[in-house]
Amino acid sequence: MSLKKAALTFFKTNKISYLLKSNEIHFVCFKCKSTAVMDSETCVWKCNNCQAVGNIVELFNAEINNEFLEVTIINPKKIINQVNYDIRELIKEIEGNHQKDKLNQIYNRLQIFLREIEKNNI
Ligand SMILES: [Zn+2]
Repeated sequence: MSLKKAALTFFKTNKISYLLKSNEIHFVCFKCKSTAVMDSETCVWKCNNCQAVGNIVELFNAEINNEFLEVTIINPKKIINQVNYDIRELIKEIEGNHQKDKLNQIYNRLQIFLREIEKNNI
């Protein structure tokens, strides 16, 4: 098992919020509850808030209490997928054609906006 896979398994098993971002894993810092950033290849991590540093060993030995489990690392892609899903479900439920058309228009504009953001890496 690669270090990256071991780290991801650790986060999933312990229900610790994390975000996989290209070659980085963002997770809740065990010391200050800010965001720590881990290199997914080496699994060396650092918190830019409290300057805590560590590797996979420190990660596995970290004392995890409920306070950390309540903190969520925001995953923009997951939020966008939820919003898109909610709009599509709402479109199905709406009876009036005018409202349905308007909501479809909003949904389509949102998709154009999201594609631009992704293209320009905003
Ligand atoms: Zn920290």
